[in-house]
Amino acid sequence: MAWEITKERCLRCGACVSVCPVLALELRESGILNDSGKCTLCPICERVCPVGAIRVEK
Ligand code: SF4
Ligand code: SF4
Repeated sequence: MAWEITKERCLRCGACVSVCPVLALELRESGILNDSGKCTLCPICERVCPVGAIRVEK
């Protein structure tokens, strides 16, 4: 599993949450949470993040 987020960079805009096809992402008070059991590393969320906070490696 190689889905990583740089929390300090995240704006909490929710863009990644709304595009995830398998609903693996959740916006919490602490930041974005990824359910690794659902995530397919597709990596649409990485592409939509406006600040490059997400990194996905297959
Ligand atoms: S890599 Fe794909 S499946 Fe995983 S959280 Fe991002 S959008 Fe969802
Ligand atoms: S798209 Fe990027 S900046 Fe927006 S909530 Fe997701 S990780 Fe944070």
